Amino acid sequence: MAWVKLFRRQAGGNLGKVYQPGSVLSLAPTKGLFNEPGQNSCFLNSAVQVLWQLDIFRRSLRGLTGHVCLGDACIFCALKSLFAQFQTSREKVLPSDAMRHALAESFKDEHRFQLGLMDDAAECFENILQRIHFHIVPNSEGDMCTSKSCITHQKFAMTLYEQCVCRSCGASSDPLPFTEFVRYISTTALCNEVDRMLERHERLKPEMFAELLQTANTADDFRKCPSNCGQKIKIRRVLMNCPEIVTIGLVWDSDNSDLTEDVVRNLATQLYLPGVCGHSQLSVYW
Ligand SMILES: [Zn+2]
Ligand SMILES: [Zn+2]
Ligand SMILES: [Zn+2]
Repeated sequence: MAWVKLFRRQAGGNLGKVYQPGSVLSLAPTKGLFNEPGQNSCFLNSAVQVLWQLDIFRRSLRGLTGHVCLGDACIFCALKSLFAQFQTSREKVLPSDAMRHALAESFKDEHRFQLGLMDDAAECFENILQRIHFHIVPNSEGDMCTSKSCITHQKFAMTLYEQCVCRSCGASSDPLPFTEFVRYISTTALCNEVDRMLERHERLKPEMFAELLQTANTADDFRKCPSNCGQKIKIRRVLMNCPEIVTIGLVWDSDNSDLTEDVVRNLATQLYLPGVCGHSQLSVYW
């Protein structure tokens, strides 16, 4: 089970500057979502709560109306309706049943997210984003989506490329471009990197968090030199756009991980994107 932590940067502004903290405290009213015995909707509820608390996403979704509607299976409508209840209902806890049904109906053929069955929160989060894209731009290939109204790609998509460059012989592989919504980092690798840093008697400063994520992300991930000179090299990932929302998913490598306290202690409140992904020019706060 992975959980998702979202990093927000203030919308707009000049690149190259360090951003001041945006809406660290969301203005959204906070409400709970029911998860009755047997419903097992915790994975969906946590994904919905993350989306609701993201001011950029919440406001953008509110402003959208046109979409390809799938009726009972329409995740777009179900999410919009749930968000409207978050906004206006006097209840402190709301049912997420309509969203659960839409999700189950949408993924019936894939046997995913079916009623009563537990599922993965991070995968649910990503799939909700994907479905919103298809409701808005049904005929577009995911990675190539440039629609201005697609909040999925406009707000969340990180466009990166990967390349192997050998420091020994200079050979390089063809750059491989790709798009992702979440960068997943192993909590075990993250804590190992913190330990290594402390062993070197370096003091853990918040601005080093991005480097920690980067190192944890590529730890033990050695590739062969593209011209087979024998050198083992680390892959280089470069972020090419400046997404408004950068999502880092922390992956717990075991169900009984005892790293929770360590991870929370080492999380920083600022993320310097060039540190995580090579070239880029902005800093992210959350
Ligand atoms: Zn609809
Ligand atoms: Zn899209
Ligand atoms: Zn080489």
